[in-house]
Amino acid sequence: MANILYDALFAPLAARENTLITTADGGTISGAAFLALVHRQANALRALGLRPGDRLALQVAKSPEALALYGAALAAGVVVLPLNTAYTPAEVAYFLGDCGAAVLVGDAAAAEGLAAVAADHGARFVTLNGDGSGSFSDLVASQSAAFSVVSRGGTDLAALLYTSGTTGRSKGAMLSHDNLLSNAEVLREHWRFTSGDVLLHALPIFHTHGLFVASNVVLSAGASMIFLPGFSLPQVLRFLPQASVMMGVPTFYTRLLDAPEFTRDLVAHMRLFVSGSAPLLAETHIAFEERTGHRILERYGMTETNMNTSNPYEGARRAGTVGPALPGVELRITDPASGEQLPDGTPGMIEVRGPNVFKGYWNMPEKTREELRENGFFITGDIGVIDDQGYVSIVGRAKDLIISGGYNIYPKEIELLLDEAPEVLETAVIGVPHPDFGEAVVAVIVPKPGQSPTESALLAGLQSQLARFKQPKAIILRDELPRNTMGKVQKNLLRAEYAELFR
Ligand code: ATP
Ligand code: MG
Repeated sequence: MANILYDALFAPLAARENTLITTADGGTISGAAFLALVHRQANALRALGLRPGDRLALQVAKSPEALALYGAALAAGVVVLPLNTAYTPAEVAYFLGDCGAAVLVGDAAAAEGLAAVAADHGARFVTLNGDGSGSFSDLVASQSAAFSVVSRGGTDLAALLYTSGTTGRSKGAMLSHDNLLSNAEVLREHWRFTSGDVLLHALPIFHTHGLFVASNVVLSAGASMIFLPGFSLPQVLRFLPQASVMMGVPTFYTRLLDAPEFTRDLVAHMRLFVSGSAPLLAETHIAFEERTGHRILERYGMTETNMNTSNPYEGARRAGTVGPALPGVELRITDPASGEQLPDGTPGMIEVRGPNVFKGYWNMPEKTREELRENGFFITGDIGVIDDQGYVSIVGRAKDLIISGGYNIYPKEIELLLDEAPEVLETAVIGVPHPDFGEAVVAVIVPKPGQSPTESALLAGLQSQLARFKQPKAIILRDELPRNTMGKVQKNLLRAEYAELFR
């Protein structure tokens, strides 16, 4: 019986006696041993009463056992639903209520809160801790390593992955076996992954980047990975010499650049550095190349669609762009109001269509209708522009668009100009309510260490470059910008904090 994703990614591990995973303590797990764990866990899921199509919610620390659970769920035909480890039990309650999961796996340290939340929603609660221990592992230990894999077709759901909640309440994206497999194969080819590759994996596995982009590509290529619990600078510096590829969010790369031990020699042997999940500043791209000789390959994607665009492996990797659409993915720019396609060079709504695009939002038929067109194009909510060579640049999110005095203002344009000031480290430009203009442009600025730029000097620098209506009505200095675990700036928090500025 066929099981599309399991057959492609996990079944081949049976024949692999070589290392699949190296852990932070230097331990190794072969492909075959990992698959045996997957099968034991799949039997344990069955023993817990999970049936094909049921949802399994996970809020567990990153570990080989946690990754194996993804494989176990696939084998058992269970829809896996990984949750951010930062969520509180009250937040987990929302997801359980939304998805109707039959089982919640969580950390023993949070057992009190999570067990109560699970009970409220009629879900069973078992534990899996970061060190691999827990009541679930106890159950797994007594199971057989033989498992009869459940049949699953291409359109069956593999995962229910919730969006990061950057622009509002997280939505559950229904991802099918075909969605995930098609993207894994495209990325493997596009980034030239082979069985000889060793990926340095320091990303979380509750998000599309670490779970699907990183892990699926490694599995699809028969490659191996150094599986770190998270991004720890000393650990990353220690393991880089053993890796051939690293995938990261932009903050990984800025943190590496801040470390004097991060040298050209340390990474001379590396084949590829990939960045995504949040915009990589052109200046980081340039500084990285100056330091290491490597040009970071930036790509663009999201929970609902997997990856849509990527800079090329061979050919120009352009700083500040996310590259052309991937093979098999159609990308077009439309007028956000009318939905009409716009000519290249004009910024507008990014829409994508392809085998990577999800099946809709769980339990949200209206939202699905609003964002997923009948012709298959998904309205991403990101504003972008395509140049004459097909390269896409992300201008910002439609929800971050500022409308001041009736004019549309894209924050990115102002942010890029402010970032050029020598005293400025980074900037977030937001719109806040204003009695006369509807919204007013506010620039939130993080100065470089030891710098204290003045509002008037920063504004003076903008005067000759920006129309008056785009110039900030206030500049606020802060020590840092609020970011989530994927390095995304949380503008909604900034908007809430400064909502009363002009009222
Ligand atoms: P929500 O949809 O709940 O508001 P979210 O969109 O942040 O949250 P994700 O699916 O994790 O949730 O993130 C996808 C978004 O991340 C994209 O829509 C885009 O805005 C941003 N993104 C991803 N890669 C890049 C990139 N290379 N450059 C700029 N932005 C990126
Ligand atoms: Mg989104």
